[in-house]
Formats: sequence, C-alpha cells, structure tokens
Amino acid sequence: MNQGRSLKKVFGSMHFRLLIVLLLIGLVPVFFMKNGILNGFEDQTVSMRASMIRDQCSRLSADIMDAGYLADFSSDVVDKELRQIAELYSGRVILVNSQFEIILDTYLLDEGKTIIARELIECFKGEDTDYYNAENDFIEVVCPIKEDTTKAVVGAFIVSIPTTDIIVARRNLSRNVLILEVLLIILIIGVSFYASRLLVRPFRKVTAMMNSGGTDFLTDDISMPDYTETELLSEAYNQMRHRLQAQEESRQMFVSNVSHELKTPMTSMKVLSDSLIQQAEFGEVPNELYREFMVDIGQEIDRENKIITDLLDLVKMDRNSPDLQIEETNINDLIALILKRLRPIAAKRGIEIALESYKPIIAQVDQTKFTLAISNLVENGIKYNKENGWVHISLNVDNTYFFVKVQDSGIGIPEADQEQIFERFYRVDKSHSREIGGTGLGLAITKQAVLVHHGAIRVYSREGEGTTFTVRIPLRYLEQGQTE
Ligand code: ADP
Repeated sequence: MNQGRSLKKVFGSMHFRLLIVLLLIGLVPVFFMKNGILNGFEDQTVSMRASMIRDQCSRLSADIMDAGYLADFSSDVVDKELRQIAELYSGRVILVNSQFEIILDTYLLDEGKTIIARELIECFKGEDTDYYNAENDFIEVVCPIKEDTTKAVVGAFIVSIPTTDIIVARRNLSRNVLILEVLLIILIIGVSFYASRLLVRPFRKVTAMMNSGGTDFLTDDISMPDYTETELLSEAYNQMRHRLQAQEESRQMFVSNVSHELKTPMTSMKVLSDSLIQQAEFGEVPNELYREFMVDIGQEIDRENKIITDLLDLVKMDRNSPDLQIEETNINDLIALILKRLRPIAAKRGIEIALESYKPIIAQVDQTKFTLAISNLVENGIKYNKENGWVHISLNVDNTYFFVKVQDSGIGIPEADQEQIFERFYRVDKSHSREIGGTGLGLAITKQAVLVHHGAIRVYSREGEGTTFTVRIPLRYLEQGQTE
C-alpha cells in the first residue's frame, strides 16, 4: 500500500514527467539516426558507383562508334576495354545492338541471343537507367550508345556489378554507428536527468521555504522569482499566511476580549460580596444594605448571562458551519411579532415604534437567526435613542431581494466609528453601553446573521440626528457555490 503510494508519488512528479519528455525528445532521433546514416551511405555509394560506370560507358561508347564495333566486332581494342571494365568491377558487361541482340557478353553465356528488358527499352528511348538489387547485392547500369551526329541510340551496355564491398563497408560503418549510438544514449540520459532536476529545482526550493516557514507568522515573506509560476506560488502563499496571521490575531484579540468582558461582572460581584463581609466584621449589617447589594449582584449575574448568551449566538452563527433551518417565511408577520415584543421596552422611554410595509414578502430565512438580527437593530434603535424618540421600520422587496430599513431618531454614531461598530465587543461609548446593558456583540451577531443568508448590511448615521441600518437579503436562500 505504502509502496504503491510512493510509486504514484514518483510517477506523478513533475521531475519524472520532464525526464520522460526529455528522454523521448533525445532518444527517438537517435534510434532513427542509425538507419538514416547507413541507408544514406549505401545509397550514396551505389549512386557514385553507377555514375562512375556510366562515365566509363559513355567514354567507351565513343570508341565503339569510332571502330564501328556494332557492325563489325573485330576491334580488339574495344573488346579489350570492355573486358577490362568487367574485370575492374568483377562484373559482367553485355553489349546489345539496336535489334536487342547480344553482340558481346563478357561471361560468354548469352552472345547471339536476343534480350528484351524494361530498362533496355527505356534506354533506347534515350533514358539512363540503373537498378540496385540489394537482396542479391548487385547494381545493373544500362547505358546507351549514341551515333555521333544524329545522337540516335544504336546500341546499349548492360553492366552488372556486385556490391559485396559496399555491404561489407556498411557492416563496418554500422559497428561504429552503434558505438556512437550507445555513447549518445548515455549522454542523453545523463543530460536529461540533470536538466529535469535543474528545471524542478525552483519548485523544490519554494516547497522547502514553505515548510521552513510553517505557521510561524514572524518569518519573512518567501520569494522565488525563478519562474513566473513559482513567483505566483510564493505570492499566493504569502497572502494566505497574512490572512492566517490576521485571523490568528483576531482570534487572540477575541479571546482576550471575552476573558475581560466575562471578568468584569465577576470583579463587581467580588467587590460587592467582600464589602458586605467587611461591614459584617464591624457589627450587624442592616437588612436593606444586604438587599441592595444582592440586587446589584443579581444584575451582574444577568449581565454575565447576557454576555454568554450573545457569545453562544455568535458561535452558532459561525460562517464556516452555520446550522441553518431555512423556512419559507412571511417576513411582514415575523417583523410585526418582533416589534410586538419590543414595544413595551420602547414605551418605557416614550419611544414610538412604527412599521411600514407595502407589499407582502415571502422569503426563505432561518427564522431564529433573522429574528436575532432584526431584534438587535431595533433594540439598539431604542437603547441609543432620546426620551420620546422614534424607531421606524420599513420593508420593501424587488424580484431578488427584500430590504429592511431600521431608522431611529437617536444619538447617532460618529463617522470614525461607523466602520468598527460591527466588530465584536466594539462600543462607541463603553461606559454608556455598559450602563444600558450592552455587550458590544449585538451588531456582530446581526452582521453574521445577515451574511449567513448571503445578504448585506449598511449603516448611515449622523451624530445627534439618528441612525439608519439597511439590510438586504435574497428572497431565495442560495447554497454555497449555487448561482442564480
Ligand atoms: P451594544 O451591545 O453595546 O449595543 P452593538 O454591537 O449592538 O453593541 O453596538 C455596538 C456599538 O454601536 C454600540 O455600543 C453603540 O455605541 C453603537 N450603536 C449601535 N447601534 C446604534 C444606534 N442605533 N444608534 C447609535 N449608536 C449605535
């Protein structure tokens, strides 16, 4: 199993694939090279031999015409010359007249016979022909004998010579080419190994850099500009590391904020109980004082509870694994219900809550999470309002989205804080928020709840005049990766 995996690793590697490509490019021509060289040598030698014979024949054909050998074969000179050629090449020379009759055969076999062959007919038409029979190792050259003045073909030579020497030379050459081939193969394999290693080296280096960097965010950015690919790879790695770094920092900040926020009510309770104990040491503590301190301790417990509840809500809203119960929901009814629950709280400060909804809206939402998002916005509208102020909620819809607008006549949010208010534990005025029971988590929960519905939230505010939050959510819930 392990061996299979490591084999797969080797065969799947870029190094291995490059090696194969380089070997193919290098070795395939080498395998064809041998035949090319040997055939080229053979063809060249055969054609040189044929042209030499043709030269000699053409010289001889002039002597033949001069001696009138075709009509009267008594010229000893011509006879000798013909036999010399035959001897020189250890071959056979046949002389044919225009009637295709053999008038001389150096082998003395066919004299007086008539010969008809394709090459001969072509020769009489004026074409030079030669034929190489590689199987039987001979070349046959057919040359015309032309009359001096009319250039008419009046006879022909048929010269057949063996090519055994060419074959032997080819065999010798083949041995040398084989040695060259082996040397070349060794060289190509070596160069391919080296080149493929060299080509993948930047990738190995970038991997080593990534491994040595690990998750240590303090290390420098890596850079490998050897190839565009390795440069892009190192840039992507650096960006990912920065994102992780930011995430890690925000996680650490969150943990320290959570600890701090949870500790605050504890500290208050400790102070309250300690002072009761201290007072008891100096005598009887009045019942009213006990009651008062107990009420304070109770409030701190409520506060602790509220922070924990908000934290749990936030955890449930984790964007990577939101546990959503999406249902077809009548948004008008749901918002009316939320407002009904909040009206008594608003009424305590004389704040009027009004809902404007012109069109019925049916949308796919997680009712609990959506309720949490809108309740937080309206609660904030009440909390950060003036006595006898107002909070107006309006609903709208188009083909794809529905919109919720929560507008208040409250204290407003300074421009500089508007970007941060959605951060966990961020409060514009910490003591004021604490006083009115804020945890700094409300808007973080709202934003997260809107995002898990693939929606968007915006804030518009002017200090002293009021604040407007607008929420946009798709009517149809879209799974991750799904498009309209
Ligand atoms: P909190 O629990 O403190 O209300 P939130 O996350 O809900 O926390 O809000 C963050 C801060 O944004 C609040 O502390 C407050 O300063 C400011 N804020 C939120 N909503 C409003 C609003 N409607 N008007 C004015 N200030 C607001």
